[in-house]
Amino acid sequence: MASGIAATKAELAKLKCILSRAKNIVVLTGAGISVESGIPTFRGPGGFWRTYRSQDLASVGAFKRNPSLVWEFYHYRRELVLTKQPNKAHKALAEAEANLKAVGRRLTVITQNIDGLHQRAGSKEVVELHGSLFKTLCLKCHSMDTDTNSPICPALQGRGDPSTEGSQKDIPLEELPRCKNNDCKGLLRPYIVWFGENLHEDILARADYELDLCDACLVVGTSSVVYPAAMYAPTLAARGVPVAEFNLESTPATHLFKFHFEGPCTETIPEVLKDICDPSNIDSGSNKENLFFVHRRMMSTDAKHHDISPSSDLPPPSTEKSDLKKKSTEKLSMKARLKIAMRDYGSTVIVFHIGISLIMLGGLYAAFSSGLELTWLVEKVGLSGRSGEIATGASTFVMAYAVNKVLAPVRFSITFACTPFVVRYLRSVGILKPPKAPPS
Ligand SMILES: [Zn+2]
Repeated sequence: MASGIAATKAELAKLKCILSRAKNIVVLTGAGISVESGIPTFRGPGGFWRTYRSQDLASVGAFKRNPSLVWEFYHYRRELVLTKQPNKAHKALAEAEANLKAVGRRLTVITQNIDGLHQRAGSKEVVELHGSLFKTLCLKCHSMDTDTNSPICPALQGRGDPSTEGSQKDIPLEELPRCKNNDCKGLLRPYIVWFGENLHEDILARADYELDLCDACLVVGTSSVVYPAAMYAPTLAARGVPVAEFNLESTPATHLFKFHFEGPCTETIPEVLKDICDPSNIDSGSNKENLFFVHRRMMSTDAKHHDISPSSDLPPPSTEKSDLKKKSTEKLSMKARLKIAMRDYGSTVIVFHIGISLIMLGGLYAAFSSGLELTWLVEKVGLSGRSGEIATGASTFVMAYAVNKVLAPVRFSITFACTPFVVRYLRSVGILKPPKAPPS
């Protein structure tokens, strides 16, 4: 695809049309959006602080060995970020969120970044998957707090310079950032998901909630290789949600998405989100896109959140649109989708799926044995009496099984669509364990 947005005007119009109708837009952001504000990634070649790579310091082990050194590293990063400003892409997202909110629609940012630039740009609905440089966690009372002080504690003043390796003594434990909760005074650590740690379950649950609602998705400045975020957009695409990727170059997941815009996101994102609440955008895209989009929402199982009723001024879904949906679903096989569902909801998915299969099988068996009795076939091969009954029952069961097999995609679709709600319900009544609290 040609670089820049000019060559993709038609695609842009289609996307704008989709966004103009979307009720719950999710924007997945990664390091690429912050690079344009001058934030280094501390990944890849050159990503060193003193002689350390990020992964040497971003771990519980490193913090236990030398909390002073780890705090210096994060102090350096906090101070660096505070000298940088949110860019046009951050600001466009914040502005779009506010404009949409005013008309009862939503835009949520789910970010892998820890720099807080989305919030500084004015975004309110931000899910920080990997935590934040400006949040702390107390190791004693486990409370999370936001702290944007510069420096975070007096002892870190003038520390963290990448070029002063070994020239300063470690900061005593009691002078490192300490909990301000009443008399707790416990040692604080950065509220960041370190190497070897799991993402916090409450944050994952919030992200899942937003993804459940999502009816249009933008992927901005992420190479789509860091999990679980790398799974989010392909999963949405497989569900039929329009996904648009914005990056400097193609990524391993580009082929899965409906749209791909190359170029600096400080140029592409403001352009895409401009006049997002302007109703004239709705007609600017191709009609096919509109139809596809509305159709997907009509099929949604979560009627509470997708409260759009089928528009009477729109013709019924065309076959072309159904093909489109089919194509995007085929990109992830049933097996892959089942894996994703198992990752999210554990064995409940399997139990639920087996249950649905048995119910369908039972229903088909009943239908066959009541209407489509195969007695004539059994009589033809010369069986009668007890053995005839057994043969009839067996062949009815085999027929029901075969039909159920043909209906496999329907079974899977029911499973994928209903499991989130079943799990949520089972958690609410206490049968399944609720999501765990963030690790300390
Ligand atoms: Zn505390």
